[in-house]
Amino acid sequence: MHVAFRAFLLASALSVASAASAAPLAIAPILTTPEAKDVRSFARPQVARVTHVDLDLTADFDAKIMRGSAAMDVLAAPGASEIVLDTLGLDITKVTDGAGRELPWVLGNEDKELGAPLTVQLKGAKRIVVEYASKPGARSLQWLPPSLTAGKQKPYLFSQGQAINNRSWIPTQDSPGIRQTWTARIVVPDGLTAVMSGEKLTPKGEPTTDGKRAFRFRMDHPVPPYLIAIGVGDLAFRELGPRTGVYTEPSMMDRAASELVDTEKMVKAAEGLYGPYRWGRYDLLVLPPSFPLGGMENPTLTFLTPTFITGDGANVSLVAHELAHSWSGNLVTNATWPDGWLNEGFTTYFENRIMEALYGAPRARIEADLSWDGMQADIKEEGGPQADATKLYGQPGGQLEYFKGATFLRTIETIVGRERWDAYLRSYFDRHAFQPQTTAGFLADIRANLIKGDKGLEAKLELDKWAYAAGLPSNAVHIKSEALARVDEQTAAFVKGGPASAIKASAWTTQEWLRFLNNLPRQLSTAQLDDLDRTFKLSDSTNSYVRSAWLELAIANRYEPALPSLEAFLKSVGRGLFIRPLYAGLMRQGDWGQPIARKMLAEAKSSYHPTIVAGLERIVNGS
Ligand SMILES: [Zn+2]
Repeated sequence: MHVAFRAFLLASALSVASAASAAPLAIAPILTTPEAKDVRSFARPQVARVTHVDLDLTADFDAKIMRGSAAMDVLAAPGASEIVLDTLGLDITKVTDGAGRELPWVLGNEDKELGAPLTVQLKGAKRIVVEYASKPGARSLQWLPPSLTAGKQKPYLFSQGQAINNRSWIPTQDSPGIRQTWTARIVVPDGLTAVMSGEKLTPKGEPTTDGKRAFRFRMDHPVPPYLIAIGVGDLAFRELGPRTGVYTEPSMMDRAASELVDTEKMVKAAEGLYGPYRWGRYDLLVLPPSFPLGGMENPTLTFLTPTFITGDGANVSLVAHELAHSWSGNLVTNATWPDGWLNEGFTTYFENRIMEALYGAPRARIEADLSWDGMQADIKEEGGPQADATKLYGQPGGQLEYFKGATFLRTIETIVGRERWDAYLRSYFDRHAFQPQTTAGFLADIRANLIKGDKGLEAKLELDKWAYAAGLPSNAVHIKSEALARVDEQTAAFVKGGPASAIKASAWTTQEWLRFLNNLPRQLSTAQLDDLDRTFKLSDSTNSYVRSAWLELAIANRYEPALPSLEAFLKSVGRGLFIRPLYAGLMRQGDWGQPIARKMLAEAKSSYHPTIVAGLERIVNGS
């Protein structure tokens, strides 16, 4: 098995070498400016850094662990004697050089969040091989029993690397500024399919001598370690277009594929805005409902929550978002996590531009206007416009990286004009492709390539205020939607005492429902809540966006008829965006809500991803 793998590596290295004669694969640079230092990684990349990793791992579903080896190519500074990797809870058995000679290594003290540094003495080695296993409960991995899948017959495994979770199943320099190429050979039980965020070399897998199946993958573009991702399950595949397709469980396929019908058009629209899609295929993996996020932009294979499927394509902005990350995030990556808005703010802006290109300005305005609502709500939640937690640089609270970041770019667009701004952005992605970027680096780039010494423009843009100050600069551009203004009129009429039956909601999209439900006062009469629920069957809604917004309102009003709906929802959906506000809302309701929150979390947490459980424990149990 191992020998066969080495033969494959050799072959792939040769084919890379021949391709490289046309376009050499440069080793991605690291930034060494003071603000680019990543305090969430133990790695010291200036001394020695990983440039490539070959994973050879077996997914053991009985023990819920990944076991095998990670072989890394190392680039060391002259005189460097050691390399430091990040690990979290790994059981390491051996470290050798490329020739199999053992190398001395030591694990430092373990920090609960950051894990432990693994320091390896290089003794001149240019390649090191770490043999190890992950622990059950590894923070990146969720091992689902068959009961939590759509098909109910086979188990499922998926990873979530961002931000610093992958060190729990891969020893790595787990910093977004340290890019590397990778390959993987993943062995899974027969009958399951493995997919990863790279080129699939053996889509159907190959039998192993011990009756399992091995799948091989390759990523030739250097990526930060958090973008290495895996999904294993009973997966089917369907083509959506020449370079797009969807993986999901067979029973989910029809619904998923019909919701994703515009994917190929989206890739074209994105390319029309900011240049070529550089990753080859763009496929999507639609996961079971415990997936903790809306989506994750794993290269070549976006991971998606099934909750975006509402039958009407209303939430495909989520796909536009993850696709946009193929430029902002995956191509040009935040150098450190405090620069995260460079990923999320750019992407939220870009997402809206894709939506406009595909579905027209009115729909894009609805979504931009809702982002503005979300931004205002988050600023309030974080303590108001003076609060440090509203500063863009430094990981602001709520979704401000997304909303405030996008508003920043929309404001620049409005001031300089779309044509000039688009030309700049496209050149920006080209200039920094496959490289890390800091907030300071972006500001320097826009000054050098867009502002070019124009003092009037510099003053109008207020760049430093946007990037580093709390609250919102006075030039912030608010896009308003006519459709949402019409919703607001109906909200006002209902609040004044009008009947729910007078609300013209039959053609409302998810977004119009969200505007309506989120803008209702948090204190309504029981009669009004009864009226809403009876008229629109909100407690039974299969649209997770509408259902969770309704449940938030119900909790704020201690509306007990909605409790069965709340319980069913919390036990079937693990997406943080929906369930975190529900638990937080229950906790705000003192003696009424807190016992409900504790009971629900105790009963539902085995179905949530480890990262979600940790966050909910903090909300509910303060630990
Ligand atoms: Zn994103």
